[in-house]
Amino acid sequence: MLSIIEAKKNKAPLDETQIQFWVDGVVNESIPLYQSASLLMAIRLNGMTFEESWLLTKAMTASGDRLHYDQHPIVVDKHSTGGVGDKVTLVLAPLVAACGVPVAMLSGRALGFTGGTIDKLESLDGVQCELPEPTLMKMMDEVGWVNAQPSSRIAPADRALYALRDVTGTVDSIPLITASIMSKKLAGGATHLCLDVKCGSSAFMKTESSASELAHALCRVGELGGVKVGGVISRMSEPLGFAIGNYLELWEAVQYLKSWPQSPLASLIEALAIRMLLMYDPSISDPRAQLMNAIDRGAALESLKRYLAFCGGKKTAVQHLVEDDLGWGNARPVLAPKDGYVDTIDGHGLALDALALGAGRMTKEDRIDPMAGFMLRVGIGDRVEKGDPLMHVFGDRAGDADPLLLGRHFGIIPQARPATSLILASVDP
Ligand code: URA
Repeated sequence: MLSIIEAKKNKAPLDETQIQFWVDGVVNESIPLYQSASLLMAIRLNGMTFEESWLLTKAMTASGDRLHYDQHPIVVDKHSTGGVGDKVTLVLAPLVAACGVPVAMLSGRALGFTGGTIDKLESLDGVQCELPEPTLMKMMDEVGWVNAQPSSRIAPADRALYALRDVTGTVDSIPLITASIMSKKLAGGATHLCLDVKCGSSAFMKTESSASELAHALCRVGELGGVKVGGVISRMSEPLGFAIGNYLELWEAVQYLKSWPQSPLASLIEALAIRMLLMYDPSISDPRAQLMNAIDRGAALESLKRYLAFCGGKKTAVQHLVEDDLGWGNARPVLAPKDGYVDTIDGHGLALDALALGAGRMTKEDRIDPMAGFMLRVGIGDRVEKGDPLMHVFGDRAGDADPLLLGRHFGIIPQARPATSLILASVDP
């Protein structure tokens, strides 16, 4: 191991035997964490060639099980590099599946200020998304799409390395991010992957050029691993949609599946969904019409309800989610301090405050308050008058929130600036 660390310290590329030795040692714990930490930092500082990044992905994928949806020659997955209020999966998966496309995704839980799709789904009474692999095959057959927390047998090398990167300042490395994401994707059993690579001040990738570099690395590794990859690069400068918090986001997702309100979030989901439909069948002539038809005839909402019921969601809880409003009466408003136009909404700051109210976990063991979080009442560009609600605070600890401090996450200016699109570029294989 020392010779491998020395090689990378001296900027020499690692070969397949060295990479395999390291990954094996990480999984069987024969290599001490301090040596892996040292190699990670050498990789973070000196980089990896594309060949090394692919070899690392391959070894990490092979470190555990690989799912196969044998009945389905084409299975589509989506990956987002994460955003505050990102409930795209909760809308996209049932929507695309309702158009007949098999969708398989593995999702994570919340840690720190990042949200987790599994916690959002499990915020509904009874839902449990940690399911054994054979149940995922059954879920695909009965529900038409899969979303679950990966078992510890999927890419165990990533599990160990990601935890170490998180505490050693080595997350922001394109070859390491590529191997981390793609090892899980290749193990997840999809044949096609639609990417949403975020770019902005609170995303992993701060600039459009680094987001594009990551997207292209993901495409190239996908190609070698037999998965076709394409997608979009999107701006992450404000929360996605209005809800921040687990149950609140699930509730917002249902509103999209019920009636498709036009919004920046809707346009992002449409762009991803259209790509996923075309990945499944490039001859579809009007994919948007198919998507809207799935909303209009209620098939997309039914698909989400079927999923929640499959995962143990209580019938009354599903009904309540779909039919009731959020109980706004108990929520605490945050009011605009002056007249003007909403120019900025600090998603990162809001996510940290939502975390403090119980919407996320500081440590893996923390308990989440499913109702905790914020419902924004305004978006960028909206006109507000002093005293209008900017957002409402929900959850058991809403009373602890300081509305004046929370109001500082909104920048209000006298004149509106021209609107900009969430989608910056498309990524083609
Ligand atoms: N998401 C992952 O799964 N891995 C990374 O390294 C970064 C984002």
